[in-house]
Amino acid sequence: MKADSIHSRRTFLQQASLGISASLLAAPAFASHSLFTPPQTGKPLGVALVGLGYYSRDLLAPALQETKNCRLAGIVTGTPAKAEEWKKKYNIPDKNVYNYQNFDRIADNPDIDIVYVVLPNSMHAGYVTRAAKAGKHVICEKPMALSVRECEGMIEACKKAGKELSIGYRMHFEPTTQEIMRIGQQKEMGQVQMVSAGAGYRETRTGHWKVKKAYGGGAMMDMGVYALQAARYVTGEEPVAVTAQTFTNRPDMFREVDETTTFQLVFPGGALANLHTSFGMSMNYLRATAEKGWFRLDPFSAYGGIKGESSKGPLQFPKINQQAAQMDEVAYCIANKKPMRVTGEEGLKDMRVVEAIYQSVKNGSRRIELKA
Ligand code: NAD
Repeated sequence: MKADSIHSRRTFLQQASLGISASLLAAPAFASHSLFTPPQTGKPLGVALVGLGYYSRDLLAPALQETKNCRLAGIVTGTPAKAEEWKKKYNIPDKNVYNYQNFDRIADNPDIDIVYVVLPNSMHAGYVTRAAKAGKHVICEKPMALSVRECEGMIEACKKAGKELSIGYRMHFEPTTQEIMRIGQQKEMGQVQMVSAGAGYRETRTGHWKVKKAYGGGAMMDMGVYALQAARYVTGEEPVAVTAQTFTNRPDMFREVDETTTFQLVFPGGALANLHTSFGMSMNYLRATAEKGWFRLDPFSAYGGIKGESSKGPLQFPKINQQAAQMDEVAYCIANKKPMRVTGEEGLKDMRVVEAIYQSVKNGSRRIELKA
């Protein structure tokens, strides 16, 4: 059975149990907006986390205690004290602990099936390529890399190695988000006319890599991709034109990267998107206005508590662990040779727009045309 049909079947079962009428269950235009909980299959695949910072420590490692199709089998860290702590906490044997120098030896380790790259953005391309060369499937955190060129190289490296590549866009696995993808893409309320979204938090760590250009820092790269993703997954289209502006209230801290970026996208079906991202303020909302109604999520990209509503009423879907759902499905698809929900191409498409955003800012908010 193709993944699409599995996804659709799951949608049907879940929506039927929620009392949603069969008329809403038309075949999805995109596999990305259908619910799917993969069955547990065989031996769980071994995941090695590369980079044991905030996201690995607080979200991915705990989620890997809940997954059924994969498990935390290895770690890659440059800090011996962290290695000791993680080995004890997660019962990881010495032979599955690597540092950045001996990482390539992971090729000889049959316990590790998937390498999950959770490093600063500038290191994604290098480690994804090394993981693929080591013969491992790869999950790479967002944003995929620093440029379209890097993204293409990563896709090519995985293809050449015959290994899967998925990007850590966890919202694609979140049920209420999947529902608004469906409403937008299937034009349930008619053509989407306007998408507004904002994603940001107040970054105060002055020395952190997230405020350094060489590491791929800045609000656009970090939080802006969520707003960009939202406009793309609500419309199901690729933008054809971009304009953008940046602002800062803390010029001393934001000398190298953007503190706040606003950007506008034009989609071929007629939708406009008015999007913002910031390291200066906390915001997290998504609202879409269509010909015959509206729908929104607030928050839309938080780790939990995604709250949805439309002009027809509340959107109620089960609450899940996003990271566990993401990794379980990726592992299931690898084990069963099904297509990935979030491919490397998905990360590349975002990077194409991010490059246009930077180009627009650099040229006084000039309109940049993108190929449809
Ligand atoms: P972090 O700074 O907390 O962790 C980064 C890790 O990389 C640290 O353990 C650090 O020691 C290690 N590292 C190795 N070499 C380094 C170097 N040369 N300089 C700096 N650090 C180095 O960052 P984080 O917040 O965990 O983010 C890591 C990645 O995960 C980023 O790509 C980020 O965008 C992504 N992320 C994704 C989500 C999500 O919801 N999908 C959430 C948070 C972060």
